[in-house]
Amino acid sequence: MNVKFERGQQGGGRLECKICWYVYDPAEGDEIWQIPPGVSFGELPPHWCCPVCDGGKEQFLTMEN
Ligand SMILES: [Zn+2]
Repeated sequence: MNVKFERGQQGGGRLECKICWYVYDPAEGDEIWQIPPGVSFGELPPHWCCPVCDGGKEQFLTMEN
């Protein structure tokens, strides 16, 4: 049984804010928004935005690795 971790483009990888280069890492979550570790970008609450520059989710770019 091979269960892939990838679930679409925003599956479980890190994303980088293109404005301030803040990186959201699902393995760490987000202390500022009180997001626990293990929450993927796609699972973040709708009102979540960049904790550094307040940029919206649409400002975030998927990192290759
Ligand atoms: Zn930002």
